[in-house]
Amino acid sequence: MCKTCEDTINKIWQNIAQGQTYRMPDLNRGATFRVIDVNKEWIKISTQTAQNILKLKNAFISTIHYLKENKHYKYNSCEIRSSNDRNLSGPLCQTSRDNNYNVCCINYILPILFCNNIVGIDGNRLNKPWLF
Ligand SMILES: [Zn+2]
Repeated sequence: MCKTCEDTINKIWQNIAQGQTYRMPDLNRGATFRVIDVNKEWIKISTQTAQNILKLKNAFISTIHYLKENKHYKYNSCEIRSSNDRNLSGPLCQTSRDNNYNVCCINYILPILFCNNIVGIDGNRLNKPWLF
C-alpha cells in the first residue's frame, strides 16, 4: 500500500454513510447490501443473510493499490475471482482479504469504489473491474 492510494480512499471515505445501499458486482444476481455503521477504520454492513460484517478501510486501500501496481486499467481489466475459499480465489480477492482478517470482501469493496468513480466494473459477464 502507498500514500497515494491511502489518500484516494480517505477522500471518498466521507461519502460512505449509514443507510446507503449498494449492489454487488454480479448484476445478474443483483444482491444488495446496506451500510449500517462507519468510522475512520471500517464500515459495517448487512446483507439479506448476514448482519454486522466488518470491512476494514485497509482492504479498500490495498484493492486500488493492487489494481494500480498491476496496471489494471480499462483495456487490461482484472478478474474478481472471489471465493470464500482462499485457495480458489484470485490475487485481487486475496490482496483485499489479507487486509480484512482473511475474510472475502472484494464484492463489497468494488461497488463502493464504483459509486465513487474510482473503478469501472463490467458486471455482465466475467466481472472484471478496472481502475479509472
Ligand atoms: Zn498505492
